[in-house]
Amino acid sequence: MRNSAPFEDNVFAGSPLDRAGHVRRDAEWVKARFEDPSARFLPLWHLKTLTKEEGGAGLAWLPRGDVADDMQNGAQTVLLGLDQAHGPRFAVDVSARSPEDADPPFAAAGAFHEVRALAMRVSRADAAILAQARSMIDWHARHKFCAKCGQPTQATEGGYVRRCSAEACGAQHFPRTDPVVIMLVTKDDLCLAGRQKFFPKGMYSALAGFIEPGEAIEEAVRREVMEEAGIEVGPVYYHSSQPWPYPSSLMIGCHAEALTTEITIDGMEIEDARWFGRPLMREALALSGKDPFLNKVAGAGPDGILVPAPMAIAHQLIKAWVES
Ligand SMILES: [Zn+2]
Repeated sequence: MRNSAPFEDNVFAGSPLDRAGHVRRDAEWVKARFEDPSARFLPLWHLKTLTKEEGGAGLAWLPRGDVADDMQNGAQTVLLGLDQAHGPRFAVDVSARSPEDADPPFAAAGAFHEVRALAMRVSRADAAILAQARSMIDWHARHKFCAKCGQPTQATEGGYVRRCSAEACGAQHFPRTDPVVIMLVTKDDLCLAGRQKFFPKGMYSALAGFIEPGEAIEEAVRREVMEEAGIEVGPVYYHSSQPWPYPSSLMIGCHAEALTTEITIDGMEIEDARWFGRPLMREALALSGKDPFLNKVAGAGPDGILVPAPMAIAHQLIKAWVES
């Protein structure tokens, strides 16, 4: 099947901010945005985001004065981008605050929540900003030292580069995005889905895996499906992609056509894989859409299954196939 989907259907995609990639190299320009009275800062504390509940859940943007102490103490900031109507937007890592200290200063604005729990409660625009903020702040926290020489690195270019402080080295390090292929393999009126041991009871999903260096998307799809389920794959069709900020993946959603049907489970990454028909998958989609996190779904009937919630690209891949 050869249909691509609007990527905005995928949660975490579709940020409204202008990332200003072409001008953020200019330190003076970034400084001016930083000092702009309309600049607002989104605090992250141990990767949890400050969220307001008033008038529906949303990001709690603070003026610079509210996080001035944190920045004085070296808190990492990242330019997220420019909001056309409201000015520059930054993320700021306030993790250096002690637990007792983390809530009270921000309590008036909201509370800190995990990004995953927030994703379906906030607007699509806010979810996309959350993904960017979480991935970027996490990257800074993990890359304080040069991977080439071991000396400390310093952030520059609005937070999109970390430069080695050793003059003789001067290596530049850039934020990573790790590509993952996720594919719904089909054969005539059947689709292949597998389950990992930690999945909720009855849950099956599209197969997935990291792309390896020197590998094309199509090759990664064929290798992963062969490794996990022993199925040979022919044509591969791109569907859509989804940023996945745990910590910084890009899910590349594909449909793929199977050339063989006999399943051989690897028993390591997945514990079961089966062929499912459209009617059963249609039921599973309806059931999985009821609870965005599936925590409270006890499980489908004896023959029924569950699939991931709509926020997962696997859900969208299955939906596109069922509706095709
Ligand atoms: Zn270095």
